[in-house]
Amino acid sequence: MKQQKPENLMRASFPSRSVNEGLARSLVASFAALADPTVEELCDIKTAVSEAVTNAIVHGYRDTMGQVYIAAALYPGDRLVITVRDRGCGIADVAKAREPLFTTCSTGERAGLGFAVMEELMDKVKVRSRLGEGTTVVMERALRSRE
Ligand code: ATP
Ligand code: MG
Repeated sequence: MKQQKPENLMRASFPSRSVNEGLARSLVASFAALADPTVEELCDIKTAVSEAVTNAIVHGYRDTMGQVYIAAALYPGDRLVITVRDRGCGIADVAKAREPLFTTCSTGERAGLGFAVMEELMDKVKVRSRLGEGTTVVMERALRSRE
């Protein structure tokens, strides 16, 4: 499929400190707000970004500190595409990781629902990952057109 040119585009990167989860959420929300989304759409987008960025921070860079890269692009027809990427440990089995309630966290702190939430709130979620190289999550949501 021919890749369309985005009407607007934002990129940012930051170290994998937990305080930066809120930063990422606010950045993407500010970007998405330019397209005049509904309050519900904005809430959903913020939650999905939180889940993906938290995963990069707590799983991707589990025992280390690294950079998290985010991008948000608005395509014609108000299609918002958000990318969250880390160069962390990667995921051994992406299909398994995406199953609801699957978690590699053994402390009981995590529910294993992050990917399920992203899928529920966004129209499409793509995950590319390689062990030792990192993970890229691409999420897409069409914003309702408002006359
Ligand atoms: P919750 O999101 O409910 O707090 P969780 O993070 O374990 O729990 P998911 O977000 O669904 O659940 O992720 C499932 C599993 O996929 C994680 O436990 C982890 O093993 C793996 N995973 C997810 N994102 C990454 C990532 N960026 N790098 C490495 N592993 C990841
Ligand atoms: Mg998670």
